[in-house]
Amino acid sequence: MPTPATIKLNSGYDMPRVGFGLWKVANDTCADQVYNAIKAGYRLFDGACDYGNEVEAGQGVARAIKEGIVKREELFIVSKLWNTFHEGDKVEPIARKQLADWGVDYFDLYYIHFPVSLKYVDPSVKYPPGWSQGNEIEFSNATIQETWTAMESLVDKKLARSIGISNFNSQLIMDLLRYARIRPAVLQIEHHPYLVQPRLIEYVQKEGLRVTAYSSFGPLSFLEFHMENADNCPRLFDSPVVQQIAAKHGKSAAQVLLRWSTQQDISVIPKSDKPYRLAENLNVLEWDLEEADIKAISALDKNLRFNDPLNYGMYVPIF
Ligand code: NAD
Repeated sequence: MPTPATIKLNSGYDMPRVGFGLWKVANDTCADQVYNAIKAGYRLFDGACDYGNEVEAGQGVARAIKEGIVKREELFIVSKLWNTFHEGDKVEPIARKQLADWGVDYFDLYYIHFPVSLKYVDPSVKYPPGWSQGNEIEFSNATIQETWTAMESLVDKKLARSIGISNFNSQLIMDLLRYARIRPAVLQIEHHPYLVQPRLIEYVQKEGLRVTAYSSFGPLSFLEFHMENADNCPRLFDSPVVQQIAAKHGKSAAQVLLRWSTQQDISVIPKSDKPYRLAENLNVLEWDLEEADIKAISALDKNLRFNDPLNYGMYVPIF
């Protein structure tokens, strides 16, 4: 059965199930890539302060709106609060700066990027600030409760329609749900057949949060960082299980990996600069895997995480 193009959030808004991720999209091509993705039919853009390309992404959006291809209200613009802005009084000013960078007056969804509070870095000194300003990681004392309360006031002030969390584990979510006045609408996590996390996903879905997967193709996105665990594990596209299922359905391995998520009510945000892949990655809602296919793909689980600060040489042992 085809899956609807959007999923209802607990905030009442509808979120596209397939979007375009902006991590590692180069500044000099970002505006064109966003514009072309809108032309190809993408409506959700997953950005972040940390990606350093929100100004250019906003230029792509502005061009598409100016040419009448899309209206602002038809887009779903996502951004994320970086770790150095977790203190209560830092959240709104940086969200306003990010909105100005995008050239919009509200975010459809604004996440806490990581459950890690780092020492404040003034945007006039370094932006985006990254994880460290030297060799040392410097933490801040802001609690997640303090940050979440400030996130809630973004909703009150109509700067964000929905707020979410990323890279949180279930213990922290259980705690957050005790005090949240506005519940997180979405949890964004690394999710692919090598990192299935069925308990976390079952728990948050039961709590009414939606899940968005990042790095759906597993090691592929991390090869450029020369991470040992990514370099040494078999590519998901080459997996005989994925290949056989793809051949059976007449789809690409990439489509099978994305459909494996969307069929489990998990949204996806792949990106590509190739028009045929843009179209391919959008076509992951209207055909079905069999139940046995989903099980066989899930059985590839190795509890193997790539996007872990430790893998980048930073001692932030959150996972
Ligand atoms: P991705 O989904 O963009 O995939 C990695 C690579 O796969 C791409 O660079 C592209 O070259 C290739 N690709 C795309 N479509 C393909 C296809 N159909 N066939 C073959 N190859 C294809 O991976 P990602 O950037 O790791 O994750 C997606 C998005 O998730 C990011 O852009 C970002 O928005 C988000 N993300 C969030 C976090 C977080 O901490 N919240 C971390 C990582 C990524």
